[in-house]
Amino acid sequence: MNDIQANTNFDKLNLKKCRDGFDRNHHLVTPQAEYSGIGWFLVTFGITTRPVKIKYKCRKCNEIFDESSAKEDLDKNT
Ligand SMILES: [Zn+2]
Repeated sequence: MNDIQANTNFDKLNLKKCRDGFDRNHHLVTPQAEYSGIGWFLVTFGITTRPVKIKYKCRKCNEIFDESSAKEDLDKNT
């Protein structure tokens, strides 16, 4: 086993990381909003709606390594 993975489990903020070691706050990580069915419908018409979930994708390795449905994260990405 590798030490990097083991250490990730003890991260004080408990943030998941991609294989590059980037967490959701890294500048190469893009939050992708995921909407409910009706949410997508509204977005299509240019109406801003709140996503149901945020997925964090690394632009370097293209891995979606974390997701969040916490209220503050949703607000941040609306
Ligand atoms: Zn990565």
